[in-house]
Amino acid sequence: MSHTAYIGLGANLGDAAGAIQGAAQELAATPDIQALRLSPLYGSAPVGCTGPDYVNAVAEIHTTLQPAALLAALQAIEQAHGRKRPYRNAPRTLDLDLLWFDGKTIDTPTLTVPHPRMHLRAFVLRPLRDLTPDLVLPQGNLAGLLARCADQDIHPL
Ligand code: ADP
Ligand code: MG
Repeated sequence: MSHTAYIGLGANLGDAAGAIQGAAQELAATPDIQALRLSPLYGSAPVGCTGPDYVNAVAEIHTTLQPAALLAALQAIEQAHGRKRPYRNAPRTLDLDLLWFDGKTIDTPTLTVPHPRMHLRAFVLRPLRDLTPDLVLPQGNLAGLLARCADQDIHPL
């Protein structure tokens, strides 16, 4: 059975936009992911830390993977990008978060879905709205949640 999931992509080191586009291609090439739609790319100032601006996007996928297996696939792609970094514990070049999976609620030690902080982050809500304007999170609709993040810097690239 095919499931609809939303994945948050973020990067802020090196060729961040290239990392996002590369990760989207790798996701699309994953055998049990049948379709992928990538949002436009956005730039955002880091929240709660300093450092280079982030590049963010959201991908909609259709997949026959179960949530735990999907998370493992996301982490494998993160690792493949991380391994290109020259130093141990070097800052991560790619972050892939499972935002949403068929509207299911999942709460295990390794996976919380919907993602517990996505409703507070303009860099997630804005590209998510591009893909699925009518999606309603437990905390409210995307337009209302975005209005509450109006102080966060986010700009189309
Ligand atoms: P963050 O994305 O919060 O900055 P990490 O990417 O380092 O942090 O993820 C830390 C852990 O968060 C992962 O090992 C994973 O098991 C857990 N996790 C829980 N829920 C999710 C989710 N919805 N998407 C991605 N990781 C999650
Ligand atoms: Mg993460």
